[in-house]
Amino acid sequence: MILSLLPYLQTQTLILTPNQRLAATALKRYSQTQIQQGRSCWPTPAIRPLSAFARGLWDSLSAITLRADSLPLTADQELILWEEILAEEPDPGHLLNLSDLAQQAKAAWTTLKLWRCDIEHPAFSLTENARQFQTWAQRFAQRCQEKGWLDNASLVEQLLEDLPQTPLPLPKHAVLLNFTELTPQYRDLLDICQKQGMQLAHVHLEAHQASFQMGLANEETEIQTMARWARKIHAQQPQASIGCITADLEKKREAILSAFSESFENPAAYNISAGRPLTAYPVIQQALELLRLPLKTLPFATLSALLHSPFLGDSETEMLARIQLDCQLRRRNCTTLTWSAFLEDCDSLRLKDRLQTYREQRRLQAASQRIGAWLKTFAQLLETLGWPGEQSLNSSEYQVIHRWLSLLKEMHSLDPIVGEITASKALHYLTVLAAQTYFQPETPEAPIQILGQLEGAGLPFDYLWVLGMDDTAWPPAPAPNPFIPAELQKTLRMPNASAERQLDYSRRLTQQYQQAAPLVFFSYAQGNEKEELRPSPLLANLEAKTLADLALPPLQSRLQTVFLSKKIEKLRDVQAPPLHLEEVLRGGAKIFETQGACPFKAFAEQRLHARALEEPQPGLAADQRGSVIHKALELFWATVKNQQHLLALSPEALTTHIQKAVTTALAKIAPFIHRDALYHKLVQQRLTTLLFDWLALEKTRPPFSVVAVEQKQEFRIENYTLSLRIDRIDELATGERLLIDYKTRKNCDIADWFGERPDEPQLPLYCLTQQQPITGLAFAQVHATKMELKGIAQKDLQLAGIKTVDEKTPADAPTWEGQQEHWRLQLRQLFRDFQNGQATVDPKNRPKTCRYCDLKTVCRIHEDGAYFDDLSDS
Ligand code: SF4
Repeated sequence: MILSLLPYLQTQTLILTPNQRLAATALKRYSQTQIQQGRSCWPTPAIRPLSAFARGLWDSLSAITLRADSLPLTADQELILWEEILAEEPDPGHLLNLSDLAQQAKAAWTTLKLWRCDIEHPAFSLTENARQFQTWAQRFAQRCQEKGWLDNASLVEQLLEDLPQTPLPLPKHAVLLNFTELTPQYRDLLDICQKQGMQLAHVHLEAHQASFQMGLANEETEIQTMARWARKIHAQQPQASIGCITADLEKKREAILSAFSESFENPAAYNISAGRPLTAYPVIQQALELLRLPLKTLPFATLSALLHSPFLGDSETEMLARIQLDCQLRRRNCTTLTWSAFLEDCDSLRLKDRLQTYREQRRLQAASQRIGAWLKTFAQLLETLGWPGEQSLNSSEYQVIHRWLSLLKEMHSLDPIVGEITASKALHYLTVLAAQTYFQPETPEAPIQILGQLEGAGLPFDYLWVLGMDDTAWPPAPAPNPFIPAELQKTLRMPNASAERQLDYSRRLTQQYQQAAPLVFFSYAQGNEKEELRPSPLLANLEAKTLADLALPPLQSRLQTVFLSKKIEKLRDVQAPPLHLEEVLRGGAKIFETQGACPFKAFAEQRLHARALEEPQPGLAADQRGSVIHKALELFWATVKNQQHLLALSPEALTTHIQKAVTTALAKIAPFIHRDALYHKLVQQRLTTLLFDWLALEKTRPPFSVVAVEQKQEFRIENYTLSLRIDRIDELATGERLLIDYKTRKNCDIADWFGERPDEPQLPLYCLTQQQPITGLAFAQVHATKMELKGIAQKDLQLAGIKTVDEKTPADAPTWEGQQEHWRLQLRQLFRDFQNGQATVDPKNRPKTCRYCDLKTVCRIHEDGAYFDDLSDS
């Protein structure tokens, strides 16, 4: 490139480029040439983008004519002015997303100006969209005229009007470097400059012949091959400049970054140009979320995010306490909290003072004020909350915050556009502009540049790879602007207007890429999930190369390199440390249940206390629903005591007893549901009906007394003391005892008591630990669709659903005594396994046992190939 430019640079000719990136590259290449030639200082050549040249002319013209009626708008001001105009519609709600629409309207207006098309053109009366846009554009122009504002696209237009009357001192010579096209507006401007004596030449990059096309299996392979190719070249020639250009860089950003980070050990070797909106950076996301905290009630997701946020003051110091509070709120099933309730929960935390002050400041803030005042308010609120936190920021976060602070300063310029506004509108504009501000933290200059299609156009490289050149993507499909009549766009050959225009533009761009480096590869995917793809017709005259021609070193990702360098040490981790005598055991019957279900589960849950975090949900959580029924039945039988009393109750008295039990149970287990009166009433009604139906079944039984409800009991096993809680013990007319376990799910099955690893060992365990002999065990299935007692007994108890051991049951022994002995041996063995630290990942029935287990990421059952076979069979 520099070779073509040298004659011009030596005569101080003005070099005009289509964009800032090319201007910077040309300047850098020139400086390198000077250094190579042994110079230590040289005059800075005049190289700048054409838009900057036009703006310079406009500034000079304004200084001469002293025009005070034209104040250029910034891009942010223009966008917000468009949104303000759209919001003036009688029903702006029907316009859906005003900010997106404002963007489109701004783009349409700019295109019209660049292509010198009058908004009063008769074609605008032909479609509703165009008529609507015409009205908005007229209002936009009128507002600018009244206020003396000048949008960026109209600035050159004004120059075209004024320049012929007020000639300016222009450079004698200028060169247009690597332009793919000139818009009519700039073409007219350069015509005027030429008429006023400026000589203009066009310079393009030197022609190169070595361009090839290459088909690769799919997009993933294409990206990986590009990264491997760049790595190979970089390894051979570390100083060579390598361009990697792709359409849709924003969409492919993550895939490309992942392929490059797999291929390169040193990330400083490459740089990706696609910045991300400020709103995509967590520290900025958090700032915006903090500013819009609701002032009435706080949803759980917000509370949890606050407690986990590293961007709040004292977040490091109080990390553990805040996480503990989050767990508590989850356990309490708090879906929302009032500010006062949350502040009470935060009582021992410094976070409380910050939130309290924040709330006061929000309450005292003005209803509406100028944007400058809002920005101060926002900054103060964030300071109160201690944003951006006490952790030290890395270089990238530091730069992001710096850009955010600049944005806040720039937003002061919105003041004349928006006037006095509410807090929510000010915050909306801050969010819109933060989303529009693309930012890429600065990194040291890298030899490999990953660029978007337009950013890369015209740039010179030593090597270039252009990705995504299949026949469906190149030339791209037409995408006319919806606000400008389609025919008008076609006639004026506006960008994206028609297939012809796309073909012509893509042809020129392809040619420019071919000239951009001595060696250029154009790659395309040969297929995607939907269809087979072919190379773009624009590559037809290029020789095809294959992957083998690149002679790349064998594909080996960094991950594989690390993996292959492994020295394997095998460890069979089925054995946990045996129980210590001092170890406190809380699980009770759960220890036997989980050890039977899966020894690893028992170890993780009962000894490591690993369990999933609860997810608060509206209304009663599943475990609360069961607890309320248990509690209500406990309270009922604590008063009514026996079946005789139950039978003697009148329907009204029975209802009163049930309602009282339900109300008290709800108040104890789920006091929060009082806050929703309607829901509370519904739950009360449902539980009352459920108990009523259950007690109807109890009335049909032979006489009984309830001698214990929710009875706590301790028992010793292998030198450990465990606690149990028995739902209920009934004494029958014969004096014999029946143990009852309430179940609120349907289809409970007594088969779960038997076998070597019983699924529900609670009742067998209770049976073995009672002082008095037990005659039978029963599940009391309290479920709206089916109420029933199910169980086994030593002898016939004349109770529907209760079988004797010798009847056809899944029992392990033909006699009651034999069955009890079996349980004794089995349960003791399960406890011994647990005590010895037997922690094999061995689910009893997979995948059923694992289906609702939360420990999959801990036990890594997914790494067992057989697990997937079981899943597909189930
Ligand atoms: S997911 Fe399955 S294998 Fe893993 S701990 Fe739970 S029950 Fe055991």
